[in-house]
Amino acid sequence: MFEKDMVKILTTVIIECSESGLNNLANQYAIELMKENYKPLIPDAYKMRVDKIARKYKNDPDPPQSYSACPFCNFDLPDYVLDCNNCHNVIPFCIASGRHVICSDLTKCPSCNFPAIFSEFVSYLMNISEKKCPMCEDLVDHQLLEKLEDPLTYLKSRKIANLELHEREKRIDTARSEN
Ligand SMILES: [Zn+2]
Ligand SMILES: [Zn+2]
Repeated sequence: MFEKDMVKILTTVIIECSESGLNNLANQYAIELMKENYKPLIPDAYKMRVDKIARKYKNDPDPPQSYSACPFCNFDLPDYVLDCNNCHNVIPFCIASGRHVICSDLTKCPSCNFPAIFSEFVSYLMNISEKKCPMCEDLVDHQLLEKLEDPLTYLKSRKIANLELHEREKRIDTARSEN
């Protein structure tokens, strides 16, 4: 995924989490986004809000770092790290928790197909009043979510789809600049 899209998506997730009372989660992402390389990419309308959420809990002790396996090579990585320094794949993040996805507990949004950690998505949906996907905002019934049987094929197909999208955008951009 490309940085700008990722920042936009994470911004949405932060606002959603914050509005759903998932303050610690919102705070963790917000701190991540306020780092130098991402801050300029946050949509202007949300910059102040993200900044505020990032500062809110700064006196809380850091939660202990936990690790989970890279879905592509099984190497243990910190939960929120999205690029594997063992196999160099970029790992998709879970739309419900922001952690990198794992093969053993993977599902996807039935509407937008974005990946999520099954248990995280279920508890996310159970804890909010409006049962909406944080990504596409369609209503999702957590009872209909299923663990993916072939997570790797799904992840690889998404990767190809992302690349194709990127290629298409690049072509459109080139066409524009030539005009
Ligand atoms: Zn890996
Ligand atoms: Zn969705």
